[in-house]
Amino acid sequence: MIRMIKTYGYTDNTQLSPHFNAQEFRCKCGKAHDFQIDDDLITKLETLYSTLNCSKIIVTSGFRCAAHDKAVKGSGTGQHTLGKAADICCYGQDGQPISSKTVCCKAQDTGFTGIANITAAYIYTHVDVRSGGKWYGDEVHGNSSVTDDFYKYFGGEDMKGIDVSVHNGKIDWQKVRAAGIDFAILRAGYGRLASQKDERFVENYAGAKAAGIPVGAYWYSYAMTPEEAELEADVFLSVIKGKQFEMPVYFDLEEKKQFDLGKEKVSAIMRAFLERVEAAGYFVGLYGSASSLVTHTADDIKSRYTIWLAHWVDQTNYSGAYGIWQHSEKGSVDGINGNVDLDIGYKNFPTIIKAKGLNGYGKAANLTPAEPDTTATVIVTIGKDTYKGTLVKE
Ligand SMILES: [Zn+2]
Ligand SMILES: [Zn+2]
Repeated sequence: MIRMIKTYGYTDNTQLSPHFNAQEFRCKCGKAHDFQIDDDLITKLETLYSTLNCSKIIVTSGFRCAAHDKAVKGSGTGQHTLGKAADICCYGQDGQPISSKTVCCKAQDTGFTGIANITAAYIYTHVDVRSGGKWYGDEVHGNSSVTDDFYKYFGGEDMKGIDVSVHNGKIDWQKVRAAGIDFAILRAGYGRLASQKDERFVENYAGAKAAGIPVGAYWYSYAMTPEEAELEADVFLSVIKGKQFEMPVYFDLEEKKQFDLGKEKVSAIMRAFLERVEAAGYFVGLYGSASSLVTHTADDIKSRYTIWLAHWVDQTNYSGAYGIWQHSEKGSVDGINGNVDLDIGYKNFPTIIKAKGLNGYGKAANLTPAEPDTTATVIVTIGKDTYKGTLVKE
């Protein structure tokens, strides 16, 4: 194959391939000068586009003149100045950015010789078709040659997780991080009183955050009616207020007396909680065993909300969709005494949630204080009874 680096005039709008136009690659320095593009860059970008099943790829930086390259903290002689590089954001069919971890892996398969993650949120990726060797980097976590293999570097696309509550005792989160845990779902509490906040929720949240572990939360239900589920949702929202969750927040319904109500009533309870928490700006999902999802959960819930499947087997035969699989209750992780639940995450929830501005990452949420109030009183009325609970900052 003959490689061609072609020169284009500033206003040239040649369609280079089905999804890329010359205009997207011109220099952004503000001067209307010529620019260059390597044919091989376009060919590989097209391959990447179809490999990732993109809905679009946005080129945030293509060709750069030496002055512009230096202005954006380049060397002035890098691949962008040769017309061999592009910084891109790839979007999936759901309209959301595809994680740079996935893009790096597929770019490696595509044969790009220079590849790097360039943002902490794993949204943008640098790719180039340099000659004379390859460079796989991660500009956020060390701007040097970081790996021979992005699949090994990022541990594939699956994330290893745990879910914990007060029953796991005091956790050494730094050790947990060092053990390779990518996310944690924390029990926030149970029932409909703020006093039923998990005793270690605040401590676990702070510890996981300090260790750089993305967190989610769940609320354990005792609701017997949709009204009670709404009260539980309100208490849950008061407990997680002011915090940020990279992972979804979940409704956990698994009491036998609830299942005894039958599928229709159980589903109504689930909907009441899920709708209320979602309306408050959260990426909310449902936790359930494989059997409860099959026998006690209406289809509209399973298609509408992300599912956290609990199935303690080597290979699950659950045929529905799920974003997280809790595959064991008898895991062992450094930093945690005794057994711990183990999970596998299949979606890049942190990227999706931040892009949507949910779970405390939105503009509205930024207006709330970073720290919750020292105390908050929650009063709930159920029938003739009034319950009063106090939320105390630990
Ligand atoms: Zn320029
Ligand atoms: Zn770049």
